[in-house]
Amino acid sequence: MLKALGVSRLKPYLHWILFFLLVAALYAMLVDFLLENRETRKKQYLDASMNRLVSTTEATINTLGNFSRYVYDSLVNVPETASAVCRAKTSGPAARDVLRSRLHDTMLPGYELLKRYGFRQFQFVFPDGTSFLRMQAPNMHGDALHGIRATVRAANETKRPAAGFEEGRVLNGYRFVYPLFHGEEHCGSVELSFSMGSVLDALRAHSKAEVLFSVKRSVAEATVFPDQMANYSESTFSREFLFDKDINTGNLHAELFGPGGLRLDERLAGGRSFGLLHRHGGKTFLVLFKSMENILGEHVAYIVSISEDSIMDRISSHFRASLASSTIAFLFVAALSVLGIRERIRLKRLSSTDQLTEILNRHAMQERAVIEIARAVRYKGPLSLALFDIDRFKEFNDAHGHNEGDRVLRTTALTVKSLLRKMDVFGRWGGEEFLVLLPHTDLEGAHATAEKIRLAAASSGNGPSRGVTVSLGIAEFRPGESFERLVERADEAMYRAKSGGRNRTERAG
Ligand code: GH3
Ligand code: MG
Ligand code: MG
Repeated sequence: MLKALGVSRLKPYLHWILFFLLVAALYAMLVDFLLENRETRKKQYLDASMNRLVSTTEATINTLGNFSRYVYDSLVNVPETASAVCRAKTSGPAARDVLRSRLHDTMLPGYELLKRYGFRQFQFVFPDGTSFLRMQAPNMHGDALHGIRATVRAANETKRPAAGFEEGRVLNGYRFVYPLFHGEEHCGSVELSFSMGSVLDALRAHSKAEVLFSVKRSVAEATVFPDQMANYSESTFSREFLFDKDINTGNLHAELFGPGGLRLDERLAGGRSFGLLHRHGGKTFLVLFKSMENILGEHVAYIVSISEDSIMDRISSHFRASLASSTIAFLFVAALSVLGIRERIRLKRLSSTDQLTEILNRHAMQERAVIEIARAVRYKGPLSLALFDIDRFKEFNDAHGHNEGDRVLRTTALTVKSLLRKMDVFGRWGGEEFLVLLPHTDLEGAHATAEKIRLAAASSGNGPSRGVTVSLGIAEFRPGESFERLVERADEAMYRAKSGGRNRTERAG
């Protein structure tokens, strides 16, 4: 099966394949880390931007609240005003109208001034929630507010100040409602509220963003007088939200949320604050939707902030730079590793090779012998060894010189190597002595191989090396004996071959 897949052909390269898989895996991890890092930075940036919008909004509302409280203390919560409201509370319709008209005239100069500071609603309400006087709409009065205005209801019922964003019958606003007392008598409450436009103006002053305000359609439709719905238009980002026409400016939103633009329905359905970065027309925009809740904690509106943004581009170019530099570093390290591994392989080969003959050296032969003996023991197969030595080599050296001797050693190694099997292990044992390990070979097989070696050696010489012969001793491994002992027996046999006349093979006893 593996063969069918051609895997066996890949076997020699397996360590390289594994190495490159490892490198690829590490690189993938690195890229993944960088991508995640970019996401984290983006998220942190969005969180920080949202926090800034939230705290600026809160700070603005606080300031407006203090301002409203100041007006309440200095202008409204004074005996004349409170007593007028208290009297109206128990008066008949005609007297109530007179009191209303008088209170209106008294308050008018102050109200005109307050409008210039962003106040929108200035209203007196009786303890039962009936509207007594709206400075912003003096002709609308007598309607019941408790059902639709939680801040008014809270101030009347707890007789303590109440604040929060709230939709009204005419307009929405950030409401500050205070209880009104004449001595010990509770006369009702007074509302001194700001248009959300004041909040938006402050936010605009703090950033270059386009800031919008949008109310949930369902909230507006449930509260606003039908003839006042003209103050609203459908928002550009959702059918479910309306824009307060008066206080919205800019046209980035139409561009971003227009046809084919950002779709936010899913996120809007969550009813929570959210931020996102959006590419449009080659630019990046930071879009923040800050949820506004009413006094009951219900999500009823959004402050929307849209600004052109350069941070994302910086995060992206930082990402690209990190990716590029880490890729270079990575390739560099990978290349160094490849060189290192190749060098190790080269050194390993060098350390096991005899320099002159380029066959295995004595040390490598000893290592291979341990393996072959273990294999023979494990599989109970024969294993033989042939030891051979060049005859009268000293004389040859003396006659023809050392270099010529070296040439004979090389030729002999080459000749013998070419006639051995692939499984046979051939090495230089020292000087002009060579060793062949013959796996799966008994003494008879070893004898046949030894003879082949002997005949080949005797006939391979040319020039001065013509007639150079070798003597061989062969031995078959006996279970339990050591490698040293096996070599010793082959050596004894070789000695006999020498003393028996050389150029022959002798078997070990
Ligand atoms: P014998 O037939 O009994 O083996 O006689 P011999 O002369 O071959 O044996 P001896 O052990 O007396 O001499 C071995 C010689 O082999 C001595 C040494 O100069 C030579 N020799 C050993 N290593 C090398 C080598 O690397 N290069 C060359 N050129 N000669 C070598
Ligand atoms: Mg010799
Ligand atoms: Mg010798």
